[in-house]
Parts: sequence; structure tokens; C-alpha cells
Amino acid sequence: MKMLAGKKALVTGSTSGIGLAMAGALADEGADIYLNGFGEAASIESIQKDLKAKSVSVDYFAADMSKPDEIMAMMADIESRHGGIDILINNAGIQHVSPIDTFDPKLWDAILAINLSSAFHTIRAALPGMKARGFGRIVNIASVHGLVASANKSAYIAAKHGLVGLTKTVALETASTPVTCNAICPGWVLTPLVQRQVDARMANEGLSLEEAKHVLLIEKQPSGEFVQPEQLASLAVYLCSPQASQVRGAAWNMDGGWAAQ
Ligand code: NAD
Repeated sequence: MKMLAGKKALVTGSTSGIGLAMAGALADEGADIYLNGFGEAASIESIQKDLKAKSVSVDYFAADMSKPDEIMAMMADIESRHGGIDILINNAGIQHVSPIDTFDPKLWDAILAINLSSAFHTIRAALPGMKARGFGRIVNIASVHGLVASANKSAYIAAKHGLVGLTKTVALETASTPVTCNAICPGWVLTPLVQRQVDARMANEGLSLEEAKHVLLIEKQPSGEFVQPEQLASLAVYLCSPQASQVRGAAWNMDGGWAAQ
């Protein structure tokens, strides 16, 4: 019997990068998967096919995580079609890099909505069912930028610090229940979100791809290596395991030493 057999997991932003790896790792442990995120229909179809090959049931929800109405409709839809969720991975996120004095207010609002407020809405909707069924795991994908700051990422850092704060509050409110809430704080991971920052370094500083990746890493991440999505997925699976029932309110960094400095 697989560890998460019979459990139902919603992973927001699971059509790419870290969320996609987490959906795969949870399916490997037997969890049914509810996907969410943007992408071409053919690509989403192919992700669903790959996950179904792991002998779990899979469904896809197209909710835009910047829109509370769409989030609430998705949560109600999951409740009525699948009877709710046992595992909630709040992973959807976007980034924008700019000094604050020229930061587009619309992008500030979008980053706060997707990277922070969406987790409030999904947790609020999912928690009563988790408590009633006697099991719940909430894992918020924050960032090392939920623990320390960098210049030119005001909205992202405010949102991720907020997400770590939300994690601690939910962990306290659920401390005497079978529901846990924790955050994972990755350092640099080479996903499309970070590839855009590598591309900007190449364009702005006239660097090759390898040079741009190298300067990005050495500025912040002492290991000089990217964190792999599969490594983060293993941590998420651990946090969803029965053995992690006393890990509560943690903001667990996996960052090649970034936050140790
Ligand atoms: P990614 O761009 O590969 O994936 C982001 C996912 O979020 C995609 O599935 C995308 O479709 C989805 N998404 C974006 N906006 C959405 C919206 N409005 N509604 C629904 N889905 C939406 O990026 P990633 O690097 O895998 O990022 C995943 C999470 O990890 C993010 O929260 C990010 O902040 C966090 N993170 C990433 C890194 C890194 O170095 N890549 C580091 C720390 C934290």
C-alpha cells in the first residue's frame, strides 16, 4: 500500500516547474491529483496522461489564482465532484523584478493576489473538510525570499514573507487538530520563473547562458548549484507523511546555503 493511497491532493500552479514535480511525487506515493495552472491544452492533456500512468485519478481545474471567485468556484467544484481534498499545496506564483519607484502597481496587485491571497482563499475553503475527515496537510511554497530580502523584488518578497506568516498562523490555529501547515522556502530553481531572470541577465549584461546562470547562483546561493524540483518534491512528500505530524509552522529552507549567510 502506498503511503498516500486514497488521499486527494490539489497542487496549484502544477502545469510547470516545482508544482509539476510535486504533483508527480505525490502521485508516485498514490495520491489522486488535482492539477491547476496555465498552459496549452495539449501540454495539460499530456501531463494528465503521464500522471494517470501512475495509477491515480487526475483532474484539472483552470482557475486563475489571482481571482477569488474562480478559486472559490474551483474549491466548490472539487468538493462536489471529489468530496474535498486531504493535501493542499499552494504553489502558484509569479515574479516581477523592478525597483520600487518604477514598480507597476498592477503587477504588485497581481503578485500579492497569486503568491499570497490565493493561499488564504484555498486554506479557508479546504480546512473545514480536512478537520472533519481527520487528516490534512497544507504546504505553502514560499521562498528563501520569505526569510530574507533582495533588491528589486518588493512585491514578491512582501508576498512570500506574508505567506510564511500565514503558514505560522494557520499552524497555530490547527495545532491541536490532525491538520498541519508548513512552508517550503526554495533558493534558486531553474524553472521558467527563474529562466526569465537568467534571460534578463544575458540581455542586460551581455553574458552567455552559462555565465548568466553562474553569476545568478554565486551572488546568493553558496552551493553554486540550482535546487532541483524533485528535491523540493521529496520534502513536500515528507511533510505530507504521517511521520511529519509534529512538523507544524515550519518555514523549511532548501536553498544551497543561501539563508545561512
Ligand atoms: P513556474 O513558472 O515554472 O510555474 C508557475 C506555475 O504557476 C505554473 O503552473 C503557472 O501556470 C502557474 N500560475 C501562474 N500564475 C497563475 C495564476 N494566475 N493562476 C493559476 N496558476 C498560475 O515557476 P516555479 O519556479 O515552478 O514556481 C513555483 C512556485 O515556487 C512559485 O510560488 C515560486 O514563487 C516558488 N519559488 C520558485 C523558486 C525558483 O527559483 N524557481 C524559488 C523560490 C520559490
